[in-house]
Amino acid sequence: MKHEKVVIIGSGPAGLTAALYTARASLEPVVITGPQIGGQIAITHEVENYPGFWSAEHAPTGPELVEIMQKQAEHFGARFVYDEVAEVDFRNGSPFTVKTAGETYSADVVIVTAGASPRKLHIPGEDEFVGRGVSYCATCDGFFFRGKDVVVVGGGDSALEEGLFLTKFANEVKVIHRRDELRAGVALANRAFKHEKINFVWDTVVNEVIGNGVVQSVMLENVKTGEQSELKTDGVFIFIGHYPNSKFLEGELAMDEEGYVLTDEKMRTNVPGVFAAGEIQDPHWRQIATSVGQGCAAAMSAEKWLSQREG
Ligand code: NAP
Repeated sequence: MKHEKVVIIGSGPAGLTAALYTARASLEPVVITGPQIGGQIAITHEVENYPGFWSAEHAPTGPELVEIMQKQAEHFGARFVYDEVAEVDFRNGSPFTVKTAGETYSADVVIVTAGASPRKLHIPGEDEFVGRGVSYCATCDGFFFRGKDVVVVGGGDSALEEGLFLTKFANEVKVIHRRDELRAGVALANRAFKHEKINFVWDTVVNEVIGNGVVQSVMLENVKTGEQSELKTDGVFIFIGHYPNSKFLEGELAMDEEGYVLTDEKMRTNVPGVFAAGEIQDPHWRQIATSVGQGCAAAMSAEKWLSQREG
């Protein structure tokens, strides 16, 4: 078993910031990255709203921002392990146990920043056509839809941001929303309304994805009239929110009914010595800027907790 002062679970903006701050406090953190270093920003095309990183010519891509943040944390002594945590034992107090498939760590402090994942529609055909027309990431898959017609499901900021990104490739982007009013903010909504390639289908849900090897159409239902119709499409991009990646923490940390880890204003969980930051504990803000702030706070709390414990 490897003993570490600080183990950080997850490497999105919260984890990368916690790594930077604990590294600068000489705690030599180990970051267990999870399946994708950078988390959700690694699959974000352009980051226009993170303060200090924008220019008229070029907003950074998500992966560029991740690379900068990782290099900065490494410069101060953070170490990155490209692995996934399978299980933890927090019940016996510090030192805690964190297990990946091939390694077991003991850690004086754990900072959980495992983030959130895209929600699914759970409709027939959705799982069958993932990677063959169904996608949860325009940045990853948009390129394959050059000159094609796609639908975007959802009415929030993600749906419109990703829908706008898809206009770079697709012929037409139909945004299918279950209400007649968007949840997305005004700025994105206005850009989408003005875009000649984007059209909206209101009060409508997708009930089925149909295809033969690849997606060919979707079955739609108007929720007001009950009318059903088939819409031909080459791609189905689903952006209907997220759920926290907290399954491996069940029974170890207090969570709300949706699985978000409960923290106080100092990012402390119910287990002394375990802190949480970013989307694993934040169903509300979900911005790079807020995750960075929470990661910073968690790291500072962790450092304080360790130094108080050591007397
Ligand atoms: P969201 O704000 O929760 O929006 C989810 C959308 O999906 C809503 O319009 C919702 O409809 C719809 N939806 C949910 N379940 C559905 C279902 N089963 N069938 C059909 N539609 C369904 O999620 P998000 O867009 O991923 O955004 C999450 C957070 O990240 C937000 O705080 C957002 O502001 C932020 N964000 C910000 C930016 C940015 O600032 N540029 C970009 C992306 C995300 P209803 O509206 O009817 O509930």
